[in-house]
Amino acid sequence: MDKMDSIPLVDLNVQYKTIKGEIDDAIQRVIDSSAFIMGPEIEAFEIEFAAYCGAQYCVGLNSGTDALHLALIACGVSPGDEVITTPHTFIATAEAITMCEATPVFVDIDPETYNIDPGLIEGAITSRTKAIIPVHLYGQPADMDPINELAKKYKLHVIEDAAQAHGAMYKGRRVGGLSEAAAAFSFYPGKNLGAYGDAGALVTSDSETAEKARLLRNHGREEKYTHRVIGYNKRMDTLQAAILRVKLQHLDEWNEAKREIAAYYTDRLSSTALITPSVLPDTSPVWHLYVVRCNDRDTLRKQLQEAGISSGIHYPIPLHLQPAYAHLELEPGSFPQSESAAQSILSLPMYPELKKVQMDRVIGTITT
Ligand SMILES: *Cc1c(COP(=O)(O)O)cnc(C)c1O
Repeated sequence: MDKMDSIPLVDLNVQYKTIKGEIDDAIQRVIDSSAFIMGPEIEAFEIEFAAYCGAQYCVGLNSGTDALHLALIACGVSPGDEVITTPHTFIATAEAITMCEATPVFVDIDPETYNIDPGLIEGAITSRTKAIIPVHLYGQPADMDPINELAKKYKLHVIEDAAQAHGAMYKGRRVGGLSEAAAAFSFYPGKNLGAYGDAGALVTSDSETAEKARLLRNHGREEKYTHRVIGYNKRMDTLQAAILRVKLQHLDEWNEAKREIAAYYTDRLSSTALITPSVLPDTSPVWHLYVVRCNDRDTLRKQLQEAGISSGIHYPIPLHLQPAYAHLELEPGSFPQSESAAQSILSLPMYPELKKVQMDRVIGTITT
């Protein structure tokens, strides 16, 4: 197979070529200014991204993991507390809970949407529960209304893990503004809004949460050498802010392109033995990943690979079965929907610049 003919899962270089002039100018502007740490690019990005999410504040950080961590601290999550989340996610969601010396309490997913099943949350709430972290997995919003209702009833905080869902809509509102506490975004390069390195942000409409996150990301600093609290270095890199400002202007157009690709795949694959993604009513996902299910996943994956087509598994091991969480002593079978998904899911190539001929080759390879 000629390398020219291979189809990657994501192609960051083809996207860069479409915006090279704007990106190169933005990078040059930061280098010329020598303002590499904090500064006006960060402030401008924060204002622009908060407005995009329909929230009051954005705090630029070094990663999505940092955003989850600071959101949990701002909610007062402390050692011995419990935080409810899904086992079918990237490990950072649970890691941030563990960083606070709190315990992740897993709740199984709805097999239709792969997001936390709101109907199972109440049974997991105890007197130690402090917060719930729903993940908008693959770019599809979690069902926030019942989650927010439960949180209100039991006085819990809700933190959206929006790392995969920049721009996704839930009942007419953008993710990032759907909970009272905060949302965490990642700008890891492959995300829908991706930097050229690590970056993340906490988005909130609560001024105290924003202020706490600002203080903690920068050594607890009030002034240059006055430190009110012990903090961290979790600042967003200024070069990344300048890059993200350029890319934010293209986000809606890229998300729209992904919606069209998803519709094309679904239209042609729904008559096959594969299970295509289902979309919650009154939501508009942004397709960070296009994930199908199939009984003989590993054979299909091999078939694609032989045709030069990359695919992925997001994620192959549910968090409760990860070696890192062995101490929770959760047996196989604890979360059957998550475990069954991990065995049968496959992510197909998905990026805004994916061409029709490439999609046709993916579809053709699957259907032969
Ligand atoms: C990417 C991701 C994170 C972590 O983001 P980083 O910027 O890599 O730290 C957290 N949660 C989910 C669901 C993610 O996909």
